[in-house]
This record gives sequence, C-alpha cells and structure tokens, in this order.
Amino acid sequence: MSEGFSDEGVVLRRRAFAEADRILVVITRDHGKVSVLARGARRARARNAAGLDLLTRSELVLIPGRGMVVLAQARPVGLPWPGSDLLRTACGGVLAELADATLEEGHPDPQLYQLVAEARDRMADPAGDPRLELAVAAFRIAAAGGYLPELHHCAGCGKELGDRDGGFLPALGGILQGSCWGFQPGAQPCSAAALRVLRRMEIDDQPTLRRLRWSEPLREQVESILLAHLEHHLDRPMKAARVLAELRPSFFP
Ligand SMILES: [Zn+2]
Repeated sequence: MSEGFSDEGVVLRRRAFAEADRILVVITRDHGKVSVLARGARRARARNAAGLDLLTRSELVLIPGRGMVVLAQARPVGLPWPGSDLLRTACGGVLAELADATLEEGHPDPQLYQLVAEARDRMADPAGDPRLELAVAAFRIAAAGGYLPELHHCAGCGKELGDRDGGFLPALGGILQGSCWGFQPGAQPCSAAALRVLRRMEIDDQPTLRRLRWSEPLREQVESILLAHLEHHLDRPMKAARVLAELRPSFFP
C-alpha cells in the first residue's frame, strides 16, 4: 500500500457506495476537492464515524488508492456540526453546495478552504446567526472568484448609484436605478438598505454586519440578490439554497 498523507478537510457531500461504504466529497486545505472512499462507513460501529458527517471539519489521514483516495483516519476538530438544527443545517448545505460548485477537483485553494472552514465554524456556533454567516461567506466566495457585483455605478447607464431603491440584474452583474430600473425579467428588487448591506459586505465589514438588526424582508432581499448573482456566475441552480428559501417561512413566519 502506498504511503498516506495528512490534510484537514470539511465534508461537502456523501453517498452510499458498495455494501457498507461511503464516498465523501471533501474540501481539503492542501489538496483541493477530493473524493474519498470511507470503507465500512455505513456499518453501525463504523471507525472514524464522528469525522464523516456532513460539514464536519476533521484532520484526515488519506491513502492514495487505485482510482480513489481511501480514508485511513478522521479526527474531528473545532465545534461539532449541529446536525439536528434544521436552520443551521440548511444554511450549511448551501455553503457546501457553493464550495462544491466553485472548486474543481485537483485544484488546491487554501484561501477558499480557510473561508469555508471559518464560515462552517461560525455557523456551528450556537451564538452565531447562520443566515448572516452564509451571506457573508457567499459574498467572500464571489470576491475570491473575482466576480463581485457592481455596487457603485448603475449597470445600465454607468451613473453613480445613489442611496435609493433600485434592482439587481444578474445578467449585468449589478444594480440598476432611476429610469434604468423598470420591469426587467430576472431582476431582483434592491432597496437602498439592501445596497448599504451589500456595500458593507464588499469592504468585508463583518463586525458591523454582525451587529445589524435585520428585518426579515431586508434579509430575504439580500439573500435573493446573492443567490441570483452566484447562480448566474456558476451557471447552475443552487438546490440547497432553494430548500433554504422554502424553509424560511417555517422559521420566520
Ligand atoms: Zn442607470
């Protein structure tokens, strides 16, 4: 057997494989996104079981095998993922889907790993606000990928944006105001307050964002804009984000 290597990773996705195994898709710090075979993971007394759950952050020992990396050891680090908390798990699912869609296998990106691992830790913290942390992480993922939305000049005419209501058009990657903002298929409303929040995200002012008292409509507007922006750039629907949107009324009636 070839020699193993150590890395740290967060489980993004998993599926059943063969009789009692699982295949995990893990974002790792130094090896990028890796598909890992966890032998016997579906047995009642599986070894390493605590390190194999979705969104768990673990120190891993991995062994390159034929066609797939095999898990030798998984030791959880940081806060355990609160799997029974529906809202946190729905938000974490969106984070995992975003990371999965952003990263290709075989392209290590330690900066993206750090971002995902930190966001996951903040979402797991019972004192944290998982929806805010997801929005902050989504914005930072767009920034790291070089596709920030344009928040200072009208995407229609180029004029400087004012502190007033408008809309966000994903196809243009920015905000429309004034006479540019009328009926546009696919556009999301973007109030003056939502624009102010997005600009806080652009300068990564996390302390101010965490102190914000959000109204539910403001949150939903910011979340919808970020989702539309990311889906446009990643060119795929974010299934987990749709699930979160459907869950919202049950948490925030
Ligand atoms: Zn304009």
